[in-house]
Amino acid sequence: MRGVRVLFCYLILAGSVSAQNIESLLMAGDRSAYNEIMSALQRKDFIEAIIGLNSFIPGYSSYGDLYFIRGVARMQLNDVEGARKDFILAKASGYKEENINFFISKEYLVGRLLKDLKMEIKLDSLREYRPVIESRDTIQGALRPERTCFDVYFYNLTVKILPESKSIQGSNTIFFRTTADTRIIQIDLFPRYTITSLKRDGKDLIYTRNYGGIFIDFGEIIPAGKMEEITIEYSGIPIVAPKPPWNGGFVWEQEKKRYNVGVACEHLGASSWWPNKDHLSDKPDSMIINLQVPYGYQGISNGNLRSQTDVGSGYNNFEWFVSYPINNYNVTIYMGDFVNFSEEFTNNSGKYRIDYYVLPKNLKKAREYYTQTKDVIGIFEKAFGEYPFRTDGVGLVEAPFEGMEHQGAIAIGGEYGKSNNRRDYWTKDYDYLVIHELAHEWWGNAVAIGDMADAWINEGFGTYSEFLFAEEKFGYPEYIRVAASNFSSILNIWPIVGERNINSNTFLGGDIYNKGAAMLNNLRCIINNDSLFKRIIKDFYLKNIYRIVTTDDFIRHVRDYTNTDYTGFFNKFLYETDPPVLSCSYSIDRKNNLTFNYRWTRVGPDFSMPFCIAVNNKEYIRLNGTSFPQTFSYENVNSFFLPNEYRYEKELVPPNSFTYYWTTWPF
Ligand SMILES: [Zn+2]
Repeated sequence: MRGVRVLFCYLILAGSVSAQNIESLLMAGDRSAYNEIMSALQRKDFIEAIIGLNSFIPGYSSYGDLYFIRGVARMQLNDVEGARKDFILAKASGYKEENINFFISKEYLVGRLLKDLKMEIKLDSLREYRPVIESRDTIQGALRPERTCFDVYFYNLTVKILPESKSIQGSNTIFFRTTADTRIIQIDLFPRYTITSLKRDGKDLIYTRNYGGIFIDFGEIIPAGKMEEITIEYSGIPIVAPKPPWNGGFVWEQEKKRYNVGVACEHLGASSWWPNKDHLSDKPDSMIINLQVPYGYQGISNGNLRSQTDVGSGYNNFEWFVSYPINNYNVTIYMGDFVNFSEEFTNNSGKYRIDYYVLPKNLKKAREYYTQTKDVIGIFEKAFGEYPFRTDGVGLVEAPFEGMEHQGAIAIGGEYGKSNNRRDYWTKDYDYLVIHELAHEWWGNAVAIGDMADAWINEGFGTYSEFLFAEEKFGYPEYIRVAASNFSSILNIWPIVGERNINSNTFLGGDIYNKGAAMLNNLRCIINNDSLFKRIIKDFYLKNIYRIVTTDDFIRHVRDYTNTDYTGFFNKFLYETDPPVLSCSYSIDRKNNLTFNYRWTRVGPDFSMPFCIAVNNKEYIRLNGTSFPQTFSYENVNSFFLPNEYRYEKELVPPNSFTYYWTTWPF
């Protein structure tokens, strides 16, 4: 799915600076100094604004607004810790803007994120306000012997949609092979559903339920290596998604008495609507989805439609077949009045279909909107390799919620970009929703993860694919623009690698997207060899297609290709909350000689990463920092700053120098 839209950002704060009420209180002699500070802010000379404020504030030390303004200026130097100190001073001096709490209280920040997502979760103050770990999280997220003892190779799922009661009923036959001698196995289905039958060889099975876990006791040891099948029948009322896709469940949209139904369940779990072995570590090799919908509706699911049959009682059955491994959370259904159109994508090894399912009222809009699809696929095939699910084809389906990467049946919401200005950040011709969700067919669906702790791989690579798309299509300056846009949304709430075995909600706050992509960008800058970096990415894909990868697999892969140990870098960006901090100081003497001192702090001794500086506003220079102090000297310098996501000229940025980090300054 795409990143949650963070409702606040540093730039909103900056925008509110002009609305301060201190102006009327200024003493006459201070007005020009104040105006100079404001004008420095306007031209984004944040260093000068801070220095100006430092001498201005002592005369007005009880005015919280001034600390706030200085905090905003520091924030835009990425001097985040300095900014926090100023925001705390601002609050203590009576500054009342509520948004200030985003920057000084993690509890407030996480609380607001949860509120925006309509999630009611207890937070653990001893674990940086992460959600409290409940028993049900372990039942859902942990790999116990009852799960590792068998390997699912096929699901035959039937789901009937009953829109009037907003309920579903169905059955699933689970085909598996035991991998160890076992008597008990765990499958999963949320406790809200009634199990009407659970059988093996036509005989009822004995089972107990614990939260979403169904623990089946076969009453005998089944030896390793046996092929088995069990069939479970169930019915019930699915959760109505409070905020899909991030806080998922079913969506029952209705217009003029016609339904448009969908489901999004990433992180929530596929067992929120169908019984399965609900752990990311086990995908079936293929699968059937029989979707039963009332007469007159289309039933769309993953893979290819094999048949449509009247099953009586006012229902048609749409049988879909997925001929590749598929994540449980990617299995999906859509029920609506869809019309279908298609096109073909041709590459060196042949062609495959791209199918679109859209509501009739949007057909014209959709045809125009989807003129982008082939370009996007073409660029990703070049960057990563062939589209991984060619037999099933590409599918894009109009959904009653924002995007979700359902394999071969991607959910596309948002009225084809018209409702929100196509949501892109560089051109009107491409919508990053399509780019992002298509990227997941390579990253997340073909190369998949086995635990939500590693979801940064799905979303970091998915988001970085947007950067690469911009670069391929529009050139390196546009890559920089997309990177900057993402950097400015990083919150640094928790490390982007989550906790294992608890179905960790690593999606909260969006750092696995933006910081995950920033990490890959920074790695590229460090390696400083684009063809090598791009081969690393492509080969990581090709080596792991249809497989499950971990964070360590990627770290090892990078080491194999570079013969360099980047453990310090990866630890910093993947396993720590805050980014590295560049400790800087500089002076420009009367003869215009610049002396700039810098070193990375909060890092191990082996840490090394480039960044760029700008002299005289127009000359950008790439420097490489380490944990040891270094000095850079330069002649004929009138001005100096560090380009970052708030202040940069994309055409001037030298290759592999635009990294994400924090700074600290002596002023
Ligand atoms: Zn995504």
